[in-house]
Order: sequence, then structure tokens, then C-alpha cells
Amino acid sequence: MSTTHHHSLRERLAALRGPGTAPRPLDARALAALAANPGCRRRALLDAAGVDKGAVAETLGAPARFGQSRFAFSRGHAFEARVKRDGCVELLRLLGVDGDTAEGVTAEVPDLGAPGPEGRVARTRQALAEAAPGVWTLLDHPLLTLDVAGSTAYLEPDAVAIAPDGRWTVVEIKSFPILDGGADAMKVGAAARQSAVYVLALDAVAAGRARSDVLLVCPKDFSNLPTAEWVDVRKQLAVTRRQLTRLTRIEEIAAALPEGTTFDLAYTPDGRSVTRPAAELFAAVESVPAAYAPECLSTCELAFHCRDRSRAEGCVDALGRGLRAELGELTTVESVLAAAGGLAGDPDDPAVSALRRAAALREEALAEAAKQGAGA
Ligand code: SF4
Repeated sequence: MSTTHHHSLRERLAALRGPGTAPRPLDARALAALAANPGCRRRALLDAAGVDKGAVAETLGAPARFGQSRFAFSRGHAFEARVKRDGCVELLRLLGVDGDTAEGVTAEVPDLGAPGPEGRVARTRQALAEAAPGVWTLLDHPLLTLDVAGSTAYLEPDAVAIAPDGRWTVVEIKSFPILDGGADAMKVGAAARQSAVYVLALDAVAAGRARSDVLLVCPKDFSNLPTAEWVDVRKQLAVTRRQLTRLTRIEEIAAALPEGTTFDLAYTPDGRSVTRPAAELFAAVESVPAAYAPECLSTCELAFHCRDRSRAEGCVDALGRGLRAELGELTTVESVLAAAGGLAGDPDDPAVSALRRAAALREEALAEAAKQGAGA
């Protein structure tokens, strides 16, 4: 892609965000969420433009109710500090350094501090390039970048371990527990998507050096003892990579917007209140097609707005992705009912015939129940 192409797209996105509005940085969480709902143009566009979706949702009267509580946040920090204390000995043990010899094994932990993100990115690259062979090197909160639709996303994994053989491992430290039977699959899935973004960013530094198995470090049961699980993120890598190339189609999404569309909240100079009328913002948001799914509730600030809209439009999406896929061409609750009642729909469509069969069975069951009721 040429520089001029990126340049004009960047200007277009800045205009959508509003002049004088700093872009919300794209982080690993945002990129991972894009991979979680690949079909949503609304999210793709607003994220690429760096629009503050939380503030938009609030102005629309549908604020997001997720996010980490301050309590969970500080507990997470305390756990991470524990994993990394004493020169990261615990982390080295979890990385599989032989327990018997762990006493003698230490790791280099280079200082990655530098003023500004560019400086930290440069320090990280230098540390990756200069890690001594034959010993462990642990990068504590390195800063990586990924070029996304012409803008730079800054990504900060909890740690990257450089093994004596030169391979890189992404380490993700989370405060949800790994229980006897394993950890919560939804949470592991979210961590895997996030880690995949870090692996992609490491691939951009040197392709093939990063392992596609990431180390997920969590408290064991409900204790504070760290334990770990290897998570294979190859699938998430493929999905995220595909998603990020699709993001370059942001230009098409932007081009389809009605003339004059803006997501600029137009804050007062003190930055305290929004002056853009909610109705205008509503129209702007609604002009971009969305793909609501219940998963949005835990990943996107606009979830309450999109859920309300999807319900109001009688969209089957609100019923979940599995059902939506099964209903195929029937995308509204109205069309589903019409098809079931034989009023509409192609009888050769398997979804339509299944619905009619279900409607007929229901009818039979009701008739049966009525008969029995009458006989009693
Ligand atoms: S909540 Fe709305 S904007 Fe966000 S991902 Fe879901 S459908 Fe897209």
C-alpha cells in the first residue's frame, strides 16, 4: 500500500473522529476484540478512527457496564509482582527450567525504561537483538508495535522470555485462577486472542522467532501461588492476521458513509461536556452496519446500544451466533415467524423446512394436549 493511500485514509479517519480529538490508541485488547467479532464493520471503523466508543455509548444513553474494578486491578498487580519478584525466579520455573537446577539458573532482566513510547519500542528491539545466547533473558513489559490500517498500535505484553536457544515466548499473567480441571475457557480464549496479537507484533520484528505457544500464568486454585498453562494460539493468530488485513478495507467502509457523517463528540473547551446532539451521533453510528452477538457484551463498549437496536429491528443476531448461522437467509424474527407459518420463505431452504416441521410438531402437540384436556 502506498504512503499517499495511507495518508488520505488517515486524514479521513481523523475527520470522522473530529478535529482536535486525540485518537484512542489501539491496544491488544481492542485488536483481540476485533478478532472476536470479525463481521462488525461498525467496530472496525470506530476503532480504526480511534473514536472513544465508551464516550459515544454514554452520549447515546447506553453506557457500557464492563471493565475491571479497581479491586481486581490492584489484585492483578500484586499477583504479577509476585510472579516477577526476585529476578523472576518463579517465572523461570514456570517456563520449564529444571527444578533441580533452578537455584543456579538466573535470567538477564534488561532495563527497558526510556522516555516516550518510541524510545521504549527502540529499547525493546535492541534488547531482543542483543540477548546473549545460552542464557535466559526476560523482558519485563516490553513495548511492541503493529501497523494497523495505517496507524501504529502500541502493545505491551506482561513479559517476553528469550530462551537460551534464542526462541521468544510471550508470557501473559492473569489473575483468574487455574483450577484442578483447568481455567475458565472463555477467559483463556480472551487471553489467547490477546497473546496472539503480541506474537504478531514479535513476528513483525523477526518472523518465526516467536513461539505460537504462549505461557499463561495464573494463581493456582484460589491461592496466590503462581501456576501456568501452555496455550497454543495458532488458530487465534490466523484469525487475527486475517482480520487485520480486512481492516485495510476500512477505506471502503468509510466511503459508504453518508456525506458529512462524523463521530466527533465536540467537547466543550474544558473537555467536560459533549455538545454533539445525541440524535446526530445516533444517526452516525447507525449508518455503519453492525453485527451484534451476545459476545459483544463482554468485549465492546457499544454493546448495549447495538443490542437494543438489534432487538428493535427484530434481528435474529441477538439470539446468538449459532442460531443466526442456522437460520441462514432468515435474518429477522418476523421472517422466521412468516417462514414457520408457511407465509413466506423458500420451502427448499433447509432452515425454512426445519422451522415448518417444528411449527407442525408444536401444532400437533398442542392439539394432543387439548384433546387430553377435553377427555379429562
Ligand atoms: S457491540 Fe456493536 S459495534 Fe461493538 S462489536 Fe458488537 S455489534 Fe459491533
